[in-house]
Amino acid sequence: MTTEIKSYWQNYINGEWVDGDSGERIVVSNPATNKPIAEVARAMPADVDKAVAAARRAFDSRVLWEMRPHFRGDLMIEVAHQLGKLVDRIAVLECHDNGKTLAAGRAEVALTQRYLNYYGGMADKLEGRQIPLGEGILDYTINAPFGVSAQIVPWNGPLPVGARSVACALVTGNTVVLKSPEDSPLSLFLLAEACEMAGVPKGTVNIICGYGHDTGAALAAHNDIDHIVFTGSVTTGQSVLRAAAERVIPCVMELGGKSAGIVYADADLEQASTSAARGVFHHAGQICSAGSRLIVHRSIHDEFVARLKASAEARTVGPGIDGFDMGPLISARQLNSILELCRVGVDEGATLLVGGNRMPDTPGNFMPPTIFTNVTPDMRIAKEEFFGPVVVIIPFDTPEEAIEIANSTDYGLAAGVYTRDLKLALWTSDRLIAGQVYVNEWWLGGIETPFGGTKRSGYGREKGQEALLGYVQTKNVAIRI
Ligand code: NAD
Repeated sequence: MTTEIKSYWQNYINGEWVDGDSGERIVVSNPATNKPIAEVARAMPADVDKAVAAARRAFDSRVLWEMRPHFRGDLMIEVAHQLGKLVDRIAVLECHDNGKTLAAGRAEVALTQRYLNYYGGMADKLEGRQIPLGEGILDYTINAPFGVSAQIVPWNGPLPVGARSVACALVTGNTVVLKSPEDSPLSLFLLAEACEMAGVPKGTVNIICGYGHDTGAALAAHNDIDHIVFTGSVTTGQSVLRAAAERVIPCVMELGGKSAGIVYADADLEQASTSAARGVFHHAGQICSAGSRLIVHRSIHDEFVARLKASAEARTVGPGIDGFDMGPLISARQLNSILELCRVGVDEGATLLVGGNRMPDTPGNFMPPTIFTNVTPDMRIAKEEFFGPVVVIIPFDTPEEAIEIANSTDYGLAAGVYTRDLKLALWTSDRLIAGQVYVNEWWLGGIETPFGGTKRSGYGREKGQEALLGYVQTKNVAIRI
């Protein structure tokens, strides 16, 4: 199978590959070189209309809803199978389009297949209730689909993030219009290709690429959508929510994070520092649930920091395709905004222990793993999301103080605890305000474990059985017999 990247990609609407209405194209660049690698047909609001109309027709035709649920599940399992045939193409593509390493690109395909198989397997297990109302009455509930689900995806992990929402929507009988991210749109077109090869009915999945300010906004505000799944920044999420409020439609919101790991004095420091380094430097920190704050007991602070620094400095930085450990930031804009926040940190009086600079002698958007010490909770670098390979370290003396610091941001996505004391781990987990808590290993869990935010990190859950409930509405039928 060729891994060469196609130079021009069309949108997938109503089971066909089509140009944009305006004929304009979006140039896609490799973040490791900032050189163009492909062009994508630019979807505009007129294309959103076409995609939503196709999804509406498919929904109204009841093609998915009238299928026995296990057949809807079989379709997802077949998509997973077809995607497997594209693994080499996708892995290479994700290096050039997204800045991932080859291993991460391959892992994303496996992860996406897991989502498709998992939700495929659940299609026939989502059951309603029969409610006893006495003689002569039959009452039952149905998990009814909303209708057309509009899905807006960010660039950091478009394939698995997009596929898990598509799978949940389709197995529950909804139809989908998905807007892929303009900075890294290509892998989701291969998901569309896999859907086409798997025989997913035309119009039930539509994948388009356009910019957020026009096309994304047009999709979120469209009169004929019934449901929104948004993954991205808080600011954009707020504008999506305003559009949804106009039409009173439900949303699943997966937003940003500033997740904290608490390292207690009795922690296994080797394990904790290794896990914490992975938790913030993986994919150059461009993960919403990155562990970007570490709250470290003062008695072990210096030793922990020395280990973390060694782990940071051991990472090689360069193009993922060439086997480096850590790839580039997605764009020059993203790199500049991270560097700007680093400068704020220095001005605020924090100590830049390592990193904090653009990598010299490269045209790509590279920066090394970066660690700030002497950080206080009131600093901007302790509160704002970098969405890059930057971690801030804040010392503490008592567990109560650690909890107070951990809970002191507007976000509440993930949190972590490192300790050998199970009682302390439980006490801490109970008090951390976050959608998920990892004990002794950042990102412990899987596609089976529900994932989502509290506070400004959003609401609703992706992953796990809970995610499916975000795609259905309870309908009650009461019958006088
Ligand atoms: P972003 O909000 O800029 O963009 C996300 C998507 O929204 C893109 O597809 C973009 O085109 C679209 N968009 C932009 N403006 C829009 C508008 N006005 N109306 C509708 N859509 C619009 O976010 P980003 O910079 O691409 O991604 C990074 C952010 O996403 C970070 O804050 C990160 O934490 C968050 N994120 C969260 C999760 C999660 O599961 N909680 C996962 C990944 C990323």
